[in-house]
Amino acid sequence: MSKIVFISTLERTEQQQWMTLLTKLLPDETIVLPEMFSVAEADQVDIAIVANPDPSILQQFENLVWVQSLWAGVEALVPSISQHNQQLEKSKQLQLVRLLDPQMAATMAEAVLAWTLYLHRNMPQYATQQRQKLWQQLPCATAQDTRVTVLGAGELGLASIQALLQQNYTVSCWSRSQKNIAGVHNYCSLQQLPEALANTDILINLLPLTTATKGLLNKPLLANLPSGAKLINFSRGPVVDHPALLELLDSGQISHAVLDVFEQEPLAEASRLWQHPQITVLPHISAPTNMNTAARVVADNITQYRRNQTLPTTVNLGQGY
Ligand code: NAP
Repeated sequence: MSKIVFISTLERTEQQQWMTLLTKLLPDETIVLPEMFSVAEADQVDIAIVANPDPSILQQFENLVWVQSLWAGVEALVPSISQHNQQLEKSKQLQLVRLLDPQMAATMAEAVLAWTLYLHRNMPQYATQQRQKLWQQLPCATAQDTRVTVLGAGELGLASIQALLQQNYTVSCWSRSQKNIAGVHNYCSLQQLPEALANTDILINLLPLTTATKGLLNKPLLANLPSGAKLINFSRGPVVDHPALLELLDSGQISHAVLDVFEQEPLAEASRLWQHPQITVLPHISAPTNMNTAARVVADNITQYRRNQTLPTTVNLGQGY
């Protein structure tokens, strides 16, 4: 009988919570930690549920068909699975499935709206003014006159765009493939990106980290933003060139940045980003995985696969997302 391995670098208690929940939702399945398998039993494993797994442990399960990530971002898994597949013929290639949870999209949309309002309604400046006991009213454009551009129009981007539209913002987005979203100007391709930025007051990054997006938001590109524009980075730290961002904040080209994600997490104590008056640092909280809803998504994926061998939507390993 086929078995499932749970591979993670999570703390013991969290790992146990996942295992208990998944076992309850999938009573007919055997879900076991890697150390519990004998070599013979390891051959019976066809699905791995993973959270930041050690790639060498994944390699021990030679008959794996697919890997279900408990996170939406899979940039850390793509290289090891692609490398693993190099030795396998096409029909035996390991597939990667990332977490697609509507609750996560709703949570991200809520965060995008909250921090867009924070920037639009000048909250960082008013917090500074209060510390200075300064009574000063700042100009504030209407939502309709505030141009918000969302980079990435996928699971999280699309939900965020809808939340921004409901609040009357003027919304644009940028994606690889053309989108047709009512009320939203869609920019496509690298060529159109400078124009998208030139028409942006608040830029929101929801692009996955891939070889194409690493360092994408660099100085020449961000310099297209109008003077005083604002940035929110909710996807992955390395999409933004942080030294370039600091230069642009210091010059006033960008007036404030809300950063939830960083190259190194937790952010190093010595990082300049902590202290900068025009940066709001968040500890990777914009859309955490919700254990209850995510476990249900994973259980449904596995049930469907057992029923008719249909794989959930898989990651395009070549594109990296
Ligand atoms: P997704 O559904 O895969 O959507 C990605 C979007 O980015 C798509 O619209 C895609 O275009 C676009 N894109 C990718 N590469 C591109 C390129 N080179 N040029 C132009 N557009 C490109 O991903 P998602 O579920 O929305 O998640 C996005 C990211 O959010 C994740 O990868 C993860 O890193 C991050 N995340 C962060 C948190 C947090 O708490 N901070 C939580 C969850 C996820 P197409 O539509 O044309 O393919």
